[in-house]
Amino acid sequence: MEVKRLLDDASLYLMNTYKRFPVVFVKGRGMKLWSADGKEYLDFMAGIAVDILGHCHPRHVVAIQKQAQKLVHVSNFYHTEPPIRLAKLLCDYSFADRVFFSNSGAEANEAAIKLARKHSKERFRAEKTSIITAVNSFHGRTLATLTATGQPKLQSGFEPLVPGFSYVPFNDYEALKSAIDEDTCAVMLEPIQGEGGVRMASEDYFRHVRDLCTRLGILLILDEIQTGTGRTGTLFAYEHYGIEPDILTLAKGLGGGIPIGATLVREDVAKAFTPGSHGSTFGGNPLSCAAAFATLETLLEDGIMLSESRRMGDYFMSALVKLQKQFPKVITEVRGKGLLIGMELTRECAMVVQACFERGVLINCTAGNTLRFMPPLIVTEDDIDRLIGVLKEVMERLS
Ligand SMILES: *Cc1c(COP(=O)(O)O)cnc(C)c1O
Repeated sequence: MEVKRLLDDASLYLMNTYKRFPVVFVKGRGMKLWSADGKEYLDFMAGIAVDILGHCHPRHVVAIQKQAQKLVHVSNFYHTEPPIRLAKLLCDYSFADRVFFSNSGAEANEAAIKLARKHSKERFRAEKTSIITAVNSFHGRTLATLTATGQPKLQSGFEPLVPGFSYVPFNDYEALKSAIDEDTCAVMLEPIQGEGGVRMASEDYFRHVRDLCTRLGILLILDEIQTGTGRTGTLFAYEHYGIEPDILTLAKGLGGGIPIGATLVREDVAKAFTPGSHGSTFGGNPLSCAAAFATLETLLEDGIMLSESRRMGDYFMSALVKLQKQFPKVITEVRGKGLLIGMELTRECAMVVQACFERGVLINCTAGNTLRFMPPLIVTEDDIDRLIGVLKEVMERLS
């Protein structure tokens, strides 16, 4: 059979880097996915917070088709229209003055780290290069971003790591304050730790961190690769906290499924990069930028999708809280913002994910015991009701 042969070849020819479900997806539309053997799935993963418009949104498809017919790649020795339009749109809607485009989250963070160091060396002293991140953070898999990632289990085996990184507990202002010294050039944080288990920090924490960084000439880098582009109900999660970063990184949702990373920066910091400082062959590729532009334009148009996603986030959250009340022995906490929601269990959640998969619903487990929900922003009440029904059935079996 075709599917069996594909799965056999997958185990022969692909590097063994992911624990995958034995399914081959061939088609998607909106919230739904179909496998090669014709089974239908409801998608609350959205490709790990990537497919914010759902699968094959007509405007996304048309933008990609149109651009593919015109021009796909020319290199950064020349200008093309899509990255210019996209950079302007991102700056119009954020704190930023300039944008550097790359192809992934790790690369967006890598650019942020390099820029922070170069800026601080030039502006202050050659030794001002160290970066503080949070325990349980996730910033990517390249060597520098893996070092920034405060999770020893992900770093293990890849030493020596990049020098100049240290870690403090998330949402603990005093710990951060005492970790800072005169060599600190940047503090790098996620507004909500997505991979770390949908861990939140208080508004006060971010305000205090912002004030401290400003006072000491330390850059605040916000990694919004997961929380950005509408995921938490506002275009960027920093808007919830009444602060602005100096550098912000985006990827996941930005391209609506087409790979792209972006590093957004204030003018005085951006100055540290001059021709030759940094680059990427594919970065700012017209095809990916056209896809990202269409994604953002669709998301921002009249603010409807954002306000609807907030309404769905509230609906989802209260449905999960209700579920928690029904199964207090299994569910310990429900937390999140907008459509990034975590539900912590008293046990490992892999079997819940498996049980949902068998019932045609895709969800995710993070930090071992936290179910993570990050559906496309077009999710409806009916979709949420369907998921809750499946979760209820699975929880009943568990308790
Ligand atoms: C996914 C993620 C990254 C890494 O993005 P890649 O595109 O996989 O390199 C970095 N930071 C955060 C917060 C993420 O969620």
